[in-house]
Amino acid sequence: MPTGRFAPSPTGPLHVGNLRTAVLAWLFARSSGGRFLVRVEDLDRVASRDEHVAAHLADLRALGIDWDGEVVRQSQRFDRYEAALARLEADGLLYPCYCTRREVQAAVAAPHGPLPEGAYPGTCRDLTPEERAARAAEGRRPSWRVRAGGERVEVVDRLHGRVVRAIDDFVVRRADGAPAYQLAVVVDDHEQGVEEVVRGDDLLDTTPRQVWLARRLGLRVPAYTHVPLVLGPDGQRLAKRHGAVTLAQLRAGGVEPDVVLGAMAASLGLAPPGTRVASVADLLPAFDPAALPATPWTFDPDRLA
Ligand code: GLU
Repeated sequence: MPTGRFAPSPTGPLHVGNLRTAVLAWLFARSSGGRFLVRVEDLDRVASRDEHVAAHLADLRALGIDWDGEVVRQSQRFDRYEAALARLEADGLLYPCYCTRREVQAAVAAPHGPLPEGAYPGTCRDLTPEERAARAAEGRRPSWRVRAGGERVEVVDRLHGRVVRAIDDFVVRRADGAPAYQLAVVVDDHEQGVEEVVRGDDLLDTTPRQVWLARRLGLRVPAYTHVPLVLGPDGQRLAKRHGAVTLAQLRAGGVEPDVVLGAMAASLGLAPPGTRVASVADLLPAFDPAALPATPWTFDPDRLA
């Protein structure tokens, strides 16, 4: 009975793609009799808004998604992330990186051996104390990176199978002092007892980094299922510019949540097209995690109205 979760960032409203991921995460957990948690990923204090938190929870309820216990907020858990950072530091696994955004972009673009494209090549890894002091004296505030040095990590995803990535020296504390998402998610999933992570497959590539961190911190590694994203009619990842993509926008156009949930259910092969589905609970009897479509779903708001 694995515990699952949905962990939205309250930096904007949820759209149909985010909600379909939430529906799937809920179905995975509840179909096996597991607990289901909601966590607000409001690490970014500037971009996160309480109004989005309230709207996210209302949207989940409108689809019949329920959760166990209190909603946990990352903004209230900085002490846990600090403890994890202190442990990495004590193990000699962190170094300060003084690269500006532009310098990182240039370093990332240069060819760098076995690391994958987009990887940070370790420019600041071996700076001497004098070099560090000189950069700090220029007023640069460092971010903190891990010494992963290209170690290869394998993840087995339920839909994607084996995923192997060389781990670059990624950031675990941002230059503004905030812990990075990669760190927080690993600490939280462990402490909340999450055993199965179901989320969008845009995060698949970064998952080996999280597994690397979990192992370094001695934390449990959950099972992973990265589900296909929802696309707009133009084949691009669903976004605001595609029109009515949130429950509120769809409702304003006369499309009720049961129609939206029905369309999601049809896209998952759980209901015939055109069916209204009042609650995710109605989908439980037909849900089979092994029969999940592995291809993206194209959502056209105009065809629901
Ligand atoms: N907060 C992340 C997002 O909204 C999801 C992180 C996760 O599910 O691990 O994209």
